[in-house]
Amino acid sequence: MKTLSGIPASPGIAIGLIHVINQEELSIKEITLDTPGKVQSEVENFTLALRKTEEELVAVQKMLRSHLGKDEASIFDAHLHILKDIAISQKTAAIIKNEKKNAAFALKRVVDETIVAFNAMQDDYLRQRVLDVQDVYKRVLNHLVEDFVTGVDPVDLSEKSVFVARSLGPYDFAFFEQGSMLGVVTETGGAASHFAIIARSLDIPAVVGCEGVTLTAVNGATIIIDGGHGTVILNPDSDTLEKYSRQQKRYISREQKLFAQRDLPPITIDGRMIDIAANLELPSEITSILEHGCRNIGLCRTEFLYLLKKSPPTEEEQFQTYSDFLKKMHPGYVIIRTFDLGGDKISGMIKTESEANPALGWRAIRICLDEEDLFRTQLRAILRASIFGNLKVMFPMISSVEELRRALKIYNEVKKELLGKLVPVSERIDVGVMIEVPSAALVADELAKEVDFFSIGTNDLTQFLLAVDRGNKRLAPLFDSHNPAVLKMIKSVINAAHSNGIWVGVCGEMAGNPLSALLLLGMGADELSMNTISVLEIKRIIRSITFDEIRSVVEEALTLESSRKISVFLQRKFRKKVSFSHLYQEVFKVKS
Ligand code: PEP
Ligand code: MG
Repeated sequence: MKTLSGIPASPGIAIGLIHVINQEELSIKEITLDTPGKVQSEVENFTLALRKTEEELVAVQKMLRSHLGKDEASIFDAHLHILKDIAISQKTAAIIKNEKKNAAFALKRVVDETIVAFNAMQDDYLRQRVLDVQDVYKRVLNHLVEDFVTGVDPVDLSEKSVFVARSLGPYDFAFFEQGSMLGVVTETGGAASHFAIIARSLDIPAVVGCEGVTLTAVNGATIIIDGGHGTVILNPDSDTLEKYSRQQKRYISREQKLFAQRDLPPITIDGRMIDIAANLELPSEITSILEHGCRNIGLCRTEFLYLLKKSPPTEEEQFQTYSDFLKKMHPGYVIIRTFDLGGDKISGMIKTESEANPALGWRAIRICLDEEDLFRTQLRAILRASIFGNLKVMFPMISSVEELRRALKIYNEVKKELLGKLVPVSERIDVGVMIEVPSAALVADELAKEVDFFSIGTNDLTQFLLAVDRGNKRLAPLFDSHNPAVLKMIKSVINAAHSNGIWVGVCGEMAGNPLSALLLLGMGADELSMNTISVLEIKRIIRSITFDEIRSVVEEALTLESSRKISVFLQRKFRKKVSFSHLYQEVFKVKS
C-alpha cells in the first residue's frame, strides 16, 4: 500500500482499477494506407515535416545566437544533427513504403526503438542524448499530427476505471466513454484549472498535482482516490478499502439527501431570494443542471464548440446548440459567454504561435477582435437563437473600455445586419462583461455605463491580481481568493455596478465555495453562478440563514487584514450553517 497526496480538485471517493493514460501513444494511431497514392503522399508528408522542423530549429538557433551568443545556440547544432540522422529517416520511410503505415506511427516506432538502443548503451553521453532525440522528434510528430485537437483519443473500456495521467486538458473528459471514468488523478494542475472545473461539473472525483503517481501506478492495480482531501492510495489493504467504502457510502447518502431538496427555492430565513445559477462547460451537463433544480445558467462556456472537434463550428451548428440550451432552460436565463479560447483552452483550429505566457497571451476577446469572422459567426448564431428563450451575452477577458466598445460595436453591427435581413432577434437581450482582469476592475465605473450587467470571474481575477498561475500546483497555496486585495477589488466592482444601476454576478469558482459564497452575498453580489455540484449545498446554506446575519458577519470580516484571519472568522461565525463535515469544504480548503 502506498499513499500519495495531491491537490483536492473534485470531491467524492473513487475506488477501482487503474487505467494509466499514455497520451503520446494514444494520440498516434496506426493507419494502414490502402492505395499507392496514399503511401506516396505520406512519404511526402514525412519529408515536409522534417523540413518544417529543420526550419524551426534553424530559426530558434538564429534567434538564440543573436540574443545569447554562440554557446547557448550550439544545443541546436546537436538537435539539427539528430534530425539529419539518415538512419531514423530512412527506417521511417521504409516502414511507410513497405508496411504501408502512416508517417506518425512509423516514426514513433523507429524513435522508440532508437531510444531503447540508446538506453542500453554503456556510454553516458549517448544515454543522455535520449532526451534530445525525444525533443527533436516530438517536433516532427507535431507537424505530422497537427490535426489532432487533443492529446487523448477516445478510450473505450469495458470496466469502469480510475484514470491516471501526467496531465490532461480540460476537454479531454469528452474523449472518454461516458461513465467509464470513476475518478481521475493527474500529476499537474491546480484546483482552479479548467481541468478541475470540468471534473467538478461532471461530478467525477479528482486529485490533481499528485507528483509521481504515473511512475507508481500500474495498470489494473487497485486505487482509492479521495477527491475532497487530495489523497491517493495505491494497492490499499483490506482495512483501508473498508474505511473508504464506508466514507463513499456516507458521501453518496449526503448527496442524495441534498438532492431530495432540489426543488426548494434559494431563499434566506428573512425572505431574501438569492439568484443561483449554474456554470455549463459541456452540453451534456444541461440535464444534470435541470435535475439539480437549477433554473438559470450564469456562465455558458462556449469553448467546447471548438475544443471537442476537428473542424470549426459552423453558424448553423452553433445556432442549434444555443437554441437547444435556451429552449431547455426557458423561462430561466442563459448567459452565453463568447469564445474564451487560448490560455489552456487551445484549439488546433486557431493558429496560434507558442507563447511564453499563454494566460496573458492571445486569447478570448483578443482573438475575437482580431479574427472578426469567427466572432461575427458566433454572434450571428447567438442572436438568431435569442428568440428561443431568455438570453444574455457576455464578453470574457475585457481589459479596457476601448476593447469593450470594439466588441459592442461588432455586436451591434451583427444585430443590425440580421434585423435588416428580417431575421428575428429578441428585443430584450442583456449584454454584460466579465470582470476578470484587474484593469477592467479598476475602470468598472466606466464599463458599467456601457453594459447591462457584470459577471466577476474570480478565477482569472485572482490569478492576475495576485500574479499566481491558477494551474500551477506549486503555487496552489498562494492562489487565494480570500486575499484582502482580491476581496477589495471584488467589493469595488460590486459598488461600481450598483452605483451605475446594473446588477453583478459572480461566476468564478468562489461562487460555489460555501464560505466564499456567503462572503460574496454579504458584499452585495446579486447572482452566484457555480459548478452544478455546489448548487444544492449552497442552496441549503442560504435556506438556513438570515440575510442580515450574512451582511453583518461579512462587514466585520472585511475589516480583517489577512486571508487567514478572514477565513477563520467566517468559519467560526458560519460553523453551524456551513457543514464542515461535508467534503465540499475540503475542495476549497479553509486554512485555519
Ligand atoms: C473566471 O476566470 O473566473 C471564469 C469564470 O472564467 P474561466 O474559469 O472560464 O476562465
Ligand atoms: Mg476566466
